[in-house]
Order: sequence, then C-alpha cells, then structure tokens
Amino acid sequence: MLINVDRQRGGGAVHEDDCAYARRYGTKLKPYGHLGKDGGWLEGKSLEEVVQKAKAATGNPHLPIHECSFCRQR
Ligand SMILES: [Zn+2]
Repeated sequence: MLINVDRQRGGGAVHEDDCAYARRYGTKLKPYGHLGKDGGWLEGKSLEEVVQKAKAATGNPHLPIHECSFCRQR
C-alpha cells in the first residue's frame, strides 16, 4: 500500500501498489519515503500501517484519509 500525504489539501490518499495514479517516484516537494514541504509518499504492508505512518509523520491523529477511487474500481 502507498499513501500520498498532501499537506496543501490536508489529507492522505491510499493507493494499491500498482495503481496507475500512484507515482512511486517522489519529487523535491513531495519525496518518497518521508515528508517534504508539500507532503510525500509513504509505503506500508497494510492500510492500517500506511494510515498510522501518515498520522505520525504529519503529527495529526485526525488526518483525513480517503482511498483512491481509481484503484478501488477494479
Ligand atoms: Zn490509486
């Protein structure tokens, strides 16, 4: 599982590993593996794990989480 943490939108979007929308390569502002200025991409083995990582990384236990509608349609 991957979670795309977006500081601008104030939330996290959960993706399957093979989701076409999920880009595994981070950018300077949204790096992979940790959070940058605008957020970042975090990886985990389960939904619970990525949500916990996102909440811990942002320091927000109430971080809104949603699941990517694209990978959930399959
Ligand atoms: Zn997705």
